[in-house]
Amino acid sequence: ERARLHRLRHAPCVTLDGQHIDLLANIELPSDAQVALEAGAVGVGLFRSEFMFMNRGGRLPDEEEQFRGYRTAVQALNGLPVTIRTIDVGADKPLDRMSTHELRHEHTLNPALGLRAIRWSLSEPEMFGEQLRAILRASTHGKVRLLIPMVAHLREILQVRQALEQACRELDEAGHAYAQVELGAMIEVPAAALMLPLFLRHFDFVSIGTNDLIQYTLAIDRADEAVAHLYDAWHPAVLQLVAQTIAQANAAGKPVSVCGEMAGDPAFTELLLAMGLRSFSMHPAQISSIKQRILRTDARQLAGLVEHVLASDEPQDACVAWLSRARRLT
Ligand code: PEP
Ligand code: MG
Repeated sequence: ERARLHRLRHAPCVTLDGQHIDLLANIELPSDAQVALEAGAVGVGLFRSEFMFMNRGGRLPDEEEQFRGYRTAVQALNGLPVTIRTIDVGADKPLDRMSTHELRHEHTLNPALGLRAIRWSLSEPEMFGEQLRAILRASTHGKVRLLIPMVAHLREILQVRQALEQACRELDEAGHAYAQVELGAMIEVPAAALMLPLFLRHFDFVSIGTNDLIQYTLAIDRADEAVAHLYDAWHPAVLQLVAQTIAQANAAGKPVSVCGEMAGDPAFTELLLAMGLRSFSMHPAQISSIKQRILRTDARQLAGLVEHVLASDEPQDACVAWLSRARRLT
């Protein structure tokens, strides 16, 4: 059994109809990169860099320390892509208690709608510059992709581009080497999903953050128990945004991945394949069971069923519509 699992882990991930699927890992700390590789990931699809800034007793990592952390992950992946998401603090993930930055969050009325993720980074240009420089420097050690969380405005994209150019100039001055990195956006705010064709012109790739996309589409606080029963990935509005994002990115020839919980949930594997998704990023522990499903799926055969699911008027109906039809085919 152990030998079988080992073979499965490192076997290619191909559907019955011959589609190659990338299974990537979500990681939180540089040391997780090794775990991702051992689980059979062909890259890191989401490195939640904010975890390097949390639980540190008040002292935040400077450019040098961040550089060493990113480099550790990049070197472990040995040429496979490492997608580093810039710091996504705010809401459920406050920065270190003692730091001055945290103080600006204490008075936030509604953290999920407040100064979080890229909004926060753009309001802290010095820290953002440090992070960008550290990531750019690590890019000389392998394949690094830069991922921006919670993009909602075109202006934010342009500001990130400017910050990147400035970081490159500073590295030139300091005599540090760096390589070109691809720039991608998390699609996790409905505005970004609705504006995708425009946004795609400015990004090399996109990654759908279903956790926040559900939260913001349905206006359900992810962390609020009182409305947890309404937080439903099967909601047709959510599925429509996901399907549309995948289709539009594919049509534009830009890589698209899902890195929210939906990617590691076996209930959605066939549906996402049928929508045209060819890249999934998840917790390393979920990779082998998702892979087993993919190996048994005929993505082309299922593709025609997606419209029935999207036409459902209730999450429950969408789920039943999908499961009953997909089961009849497999
Ligand atoms: C998401 O929102 O789906 C996501 C992957 O990001 P996080 O869970 O870190 O907000
Ligand atoms: Mg998110």
